[in-house]
Amino acid sequence: MKRKYNFYAGPSTLPLPVLDEIQREIVDYRGHGLSIIETSHRSKEYDAIHHEAIANIRELLEVPDDYHILLLGGGASLQFGMVPLNFLHFVGEQASADYVVSGAWAKKAYGDAAKLGTVNAIFDGKEHNYMTLPAAGSISPTPGARYLHITSNETIGGVQFQSWPDTGEVPLVADMSSDIMSRRIPVERFGIIYAGAQKNLGPAGVTVVIIRNDLIEQTPSQLPDYLSYRVHAEKESLFNTPPVFSVYALNLVLRYLKQQGGITPLEDANKEKADLLYKAIEDSDGFYRCPVDERYRSRMNVVFRIADETLEPVFLEETAKHDMVGLKGHRSVGGLRASLYNAMPVAGAEALADLMRSFAARHA
Ligand SMILES: *Cc1c(COP(=O)(O)O)cnc(C)c1O
Repeated sequence: MKRKYNFYAGPSTLPLPVLDEIQREIVDYRGHGLSIIETSHRSKEYDAIHHEAIANIRELLEVPDDYHILLLGGGASLQFGMVPLNFLHFVGEQASADYVVSGAWAKKAYGDAAKLGTVNAIFDGKEHNYMTLPAAGSISPTPGARYLHITSNETIGGVQFQSWPDTGEVPLVADMSSDIMSRRIPVERFGIIYAGAQKNLGPAGVTVVIIRNDLIEQTPSQLPDYLSYRVHAEKESLFNTPPVFSVYALNLVLRYLKQQGGITPLEDANKEKADLLYKAIEDSDGFYRCPVDERYRSRMNVVFRIADETLEPVFLEETAKHDMVGLKGHRSVGGLRASLYNAMPVAGAEALADLMRSFAARHA
């Protein structure tokens, strides 16, 4: 079997050793005579996996002790609602929350919060077609804001924060779905970090939420249980049946990351991969162009166009012939997009950059 280079934006490429391990264990989990996906979530086998996954996240991201790490269902999309439900909706009419509206995903987070309370769009990238971000130093919370929400990497638009705003006492909340564990982050500067697993961490079905303990204490009692961070924190994310397969696979990815030396070497490799593609674009004399503000170009999702847009389908056909998949831009924006998540090897980015150069040479 020949594995393709998988540039899909999500679900996305996983390390081959992890897939092999799942294959070996899926029928008989380590000699227990049954599969992990048919085992009680209260069993000692699952319990060990669950707590190891949480400990591995803490170790890899250096999460301080005064934070809880939750493993929830519902995707990052559920967090768009849970954050305002827990920190905005029940705190009185004077309360508001700040949102940096940086692209398609931030708009969704903002939209859900607007249904539940007063929200301030402290930045809106609309007039620049969401191709740039505010300077981190220019972001400051509105007086009375309960939290300030950013999207660290816009998966569709290809803009990524390269430094973090200082929000003082106001908790900084970040949707890191598409760049979590792709680089080192100062967790202590955030009140809440959340991320669906299916870009950098594993299969779809589990969402990682890292939340500071004092915020958990502020959550309202009026909420239905599942929507309360406090309930999940008190039950160590075993309030209801967790997505056992996704947590199991997540843990294998985390173990693999640890074996590979953790986040620092990954961060270097991710930079190398993105540099290869941006260089191929820059060197093409305008054959390719990247519409994103150079200062905020994403290392995870490289968004680009061919100046002669009629060549884009031809380019996609050629990538398919070379066993590269997932390079079509999001349906809402068109164009091309290469997602370079953690499990994409440098060789994959090299192969794509080589093809871009030879395609340009043949079609310029
Ligand atoms: C994919 C993605 C989401 C949505 O995640 P789901 O798990 O599908 O809800 C939210 N935010 C960002 C930045 C994403 O990339």
